[in-house]
Amino acid sequence: MSVATSVCAPLPVLGRDVTVPLADGSQVPYAALDYAASAPALQRVWDDVAAYAPYYGSVHRGAGHLSRLSTELFENARRTVAGFLDCRADDQVVFTRSTTDSLNLLAAALPEGCQVFVFEAEHHAALLPWRHARLTVLDAPRGPRQAVDALERALADRAPHGPALVCVTGASNVTGELWPVRELAAAAHAHGARIVLDAAQLAPHHPVSVRDLDVDWVAFSGHKLYAPFGSGVLAGRPDWLGSAEPYLAGGGASRSVVRRADGGVDVEWQEGAARHEAGSPNVIGAHAIASACEALTEAGFDNLLARERYLIDRVRAGLAEVPGVRFLSLFGDDAPRVGVLSFVVDGWDSAGLATALSSGYGIGVRAGLFCAHPLLRTLLGGDPEARGDCGTPGDLDAVRVSFGAGTPDEHVE
Ligand code: PLP
Repeated sequence: MSVATSVCAPLPVLGRDVTVPLADGSQVPYAALDYAASAPALQRVWDDVAAYAPYYGSVHRGAGHLSRLSTELFENARRTVAGFLDCRADDQVVFTRSTTDSLNLLAAALPEGCQVFVFEAEHHAALLPWRHARLTVLDAPRGPRQAVDALERALADRAPHGPALVCVTGASNVTGELWPVRELAAAAHAHGARIVLDAAQLAPHHPVSVRDLDVDWVAFSGHKLYAPFGSGVLAGRPDWLGSAEPYLAGGGASRSVVRRADGGVDVEWQEGAARHEAGSPNVIGAHAIASACEALTEAGFDNLLARERYLIDRVRAGLAEVPGVRFLSLFGDDAPRVGVLSFVVDGWDSAGLATALSSGYGIGVRAGLFCAHPLLRTLLGGDPEARGDCGTPGDLDAVRVSFGAGTPDEHVE
């Protein structure tokens, strides 16, 4: 098959030259098509982290030169992320371990009596952290307009005046479809609710502007944004975070600690992001995220999006030729999406198909329920009571192919 040329070159990522063994013993180049799980780090991010390595020093603690340098790097990373997300002047950027960690942090900071609204289409990271709040799970909508209408109805029905939060994904990790975030934010605000955007799948592909979307918080993960594992971000309004107990208690989160005569301790907690960043922070992770933000901004989302659209069209057109293929979609096959496509093929068990792609062709995709069990059951029409483990093959699973800024044309071909 001839390899068509896409609109711009892929960004250099780690692992471009990795080869893997096939079942017949031959060795082939690896086609990494599982970006939605973890994207390969950009070479530029890796180089930036390596350049910092000799200057490694403790953050916010030591008086030595290298400690001051590390602290500066960490705080600069915060500013870079705030710029990347187009945050409001008083927004806070808290460095976390991941999107899951960020949303759990926000869940721990909910005001008393807060009611939380989520769609069943969410990744478990966005569905489950609110289990101690008053939770309303809305049906997966069949279109962006239906999503907004369903949220409007649910919010109109809630008891007025109490605090409320809507949690919504920007791009689905199953269908890749874009959600109407701006409209959902407007609906939330019109009913006095706040909104947090799960941008784990959106931020690697699309510009995310807190101001333009008018969301209250944004969460994303470094390892999906072409940075290494172990770092994430929660950015947004300081009020709920500032009046909550620290997410983790310990050094860094405390300003003053006094032992009381009765044997207890009185603690004055920090204000600002430090309140929720107890312990020695992951300065390399923060630096890597900032480097990735800069690299994506420099590459230009217009270019990245044009390239990704080309890849999406190629994958869809190619897969559509496979007899019995069915794409998973809530909003329809033509809905705008990021480079994430899930499908089933009649007569194939998804796990078997993913294994065959790996052992026969060196193609790395994912099969399973993608940590979105309720959505998979809705899309594949299974028994809502049926159980399925995250990533474990079963009757109700699909194959997911996902790609991004580092994907060369030949992987998609
Ligand atoms: N939200 C979405 C939409 C995701 O796709 C994922 C991970 O796949 C997460 C949240 C959780 O991200 P992490 O595992 O980095 O915490």
